[in-house]
Amino acid sequence: MNNIRIIIAGPRGKMGTEAVKMVLEADQFELKAVVDTKNAGKTLQDLNGQPALNIPVYDDMTTCVNEIEADVLIDLTRPESGKAHLEIALQNGIRPVIGTTGFSDEEIERYSQIAEEKELGAVIAPNFAVGAILMMKFAQMAAKFMPDIEIIEQHHDQKLDAPSGTAMKTAQMISEVRSPKQQGNPNEKEELEGARGSDYNGIRIHSVRLPGLVAHQEVLMGATGQTLTIRHDTIDRSAFMPGVKMAVESVMKLDLLVYGLESLME
Ligand code: NAP
Repeated sequence: MNNIRIIIAGPRGKMGTEAVKMVLEADQFELKAVVDTKNAGKTLQDLNGQPALNIPVYDDMTTCVNEIEADVLIDLTRPESGKAHLEIALQNGIRPVIGTTGFSDEEIERYSQIAEEKELGAVIAPNFAVGAILMMKFAQMAAKFMPDIEIIEQHHDQKLDAPSGTAMKTAQMISEVRSPKQQGNPNEKEELEGARGSDYNGIRIHSVRLPGLVAHQEVLMGATGQTLTIRHDTIDRSAFMPGVKMAVESVMKLDLLVYGLESLME
């Protein structure tokens, strides 16, 4: 099989730096170009801390896909650019693997339709860490029996979107097995706005942002006389890379959009 030709958007970022390393180290992958907010016309070797390679840097996705032949786009940028890049990739026959978070259910539905029309594989995965996928699955299993649930997600203070994509995905997976349910006292009143967190079908989601954190989540469930807590901690961003690699390999065999790594693991 030929190498999978890859474009990475966000190569200077915390996740993008890891992804560049992973792609360069994988024999079956070939990094063709990167898309950065700056440094257009330079090469990857000019980007701080990146290996010395003659890989072109673009500052615009459209120009990049017009000039570079690629199979897969890995996007690890910011919510708005991730969405724009995904659409450009699909329109140009490139299979997107999107780790960028901040997608609503409606947006995922819309991009699924485009992928289906184009018969092109696409992956949007709010969490590439296998342990986090297991946390979501265990929470979904438990939710059938303990449907009173609150999610506390904790991330570093540079994160732009809240709640996290993982918390949204967890709430969505739980909602597949749990009917919408109002939790807490029906007469409860927030004395301070936001005290009860955000609300996804009655599941409360609380977002913590602090320096020093990477990505952590607890799913708390309560029933009469007992509680259950399912927790996952990402300690290092290298935890995400086996999942990115699996998504790139899998997307080549897909002709529709898959949301969440769990569908690829089964
Ligand atoms: P980060 O360190 O802030 O990196 C984001 C990078 O994207 C920055 O270098 C930024 O450049 C660049 N960027 C922004 N807009 C761009 C554009 N239009 N074209 C090219 N590059 C662009 O953030 P991070 O921690 O790496 O996270 C990146 C994304 O991945 C976030 O959405 C985060 O939530 C998500 N994430 C996903 C997973 C997962 O498993 N799926 C895990 C962790 C994080 P400037 O600084 O110049 O703006």
